[in-house]
Amino acid sequence: MDIKPILGCTIRFEQDVARDIIVIGNWKMHKTAHQAAEMIELLAPSVAGCQARPLLAVPFTAISAAVAAAKQTKIVIGAQNMHDAQEGPFTGEISALMLKEAGATFVLLGHSERRRLFGETDSVIHRKIVRALQDDLQPVLCIGETLREREEGRTEEVLSLQLEHVFTHVPKTAFSSVRIAYEPVWAIGTGKSATPQMVQKVHAFCRSCVKKIYDSTTAQAVAILYGGSVKAERVRELVSQDDVDGVLVGGASLEPASFAAIIQQCEGVR
Ligand code: PEP
Repeated sequence: MDIKPILGCTIRFEQDVARDIIVIGNWKMHKTAHQAAEMIELLAPSVAGCQARPLLAVPFTAISAAVAAAKQTKIVIGAQNMHDAQEGPFTGEISALMLKEAGATFVLLGHSERRRLFGETDSVIHRKIVRALQDDLQPVLCIGETLREREEGRTEEVLSLQLEHVFTHVPKTAFSSVRIAYEPVWAIGTGKSATPQMVQKVHAFCRSCVKKIYDSTTAQAVAILYGGSVKAERVRELVSQDDVDGVLVGGASLEPASFAAIIQQCEGVR
């Protein structure tokens, strides 16, 4: 899409809203508070001058230490899950307000491991999204199809249902702090990454679903990331696709060198 410089400003057409590239690391159940701080200290200098925005979804117990280590850096810290209630008799759970106070600014919701291993349904995830937005935590909604659903040709049906269930009744104004991560279940932790062309097709479809739920401006503004066995060698081609606004990285986010390499590969793409 053309960009016309007028009087020193860059004017972009509506379809070409400038979306930053975002790289989120999902540490899952890895790293103590001490290890988190150590990794951030090693990572920060290698990503300091990079264009892409680095975010880390760390274990609950590591949030405060990670936030302290990330102070004065561009690394943003978030969480990997939360309960949908503000407070209450939910032994072992954690609320959005608790995460906020610990210093988290975003939260992953609906990760396929939460859906598969902990029985989270779209309606639970919808309630969590609403709570996160009410309590000022930016949600990253993870969606994706299983291998069987893809082989049955149901990828678009599955993704549109996930998006509709989760966002119906979420007002447009609140939606502006949401990010979406397309993570095909068959690609997570398996070493089988979707091709950039497959990812582009799915992301364009997800954007069209957001347009149907809200409108075209909202659809053009939302960041849609890809996740599933992302490695540095593949990332540049992925984020060069029009509708791919970054990546969500599991395994390769656990070491400073591999995570920094992914962030560095995004340089100059937008
Ligand atoms: C993830 O857990 O969100 C993920 C994408 O993991 P991996 O990169 O290891 O496939």
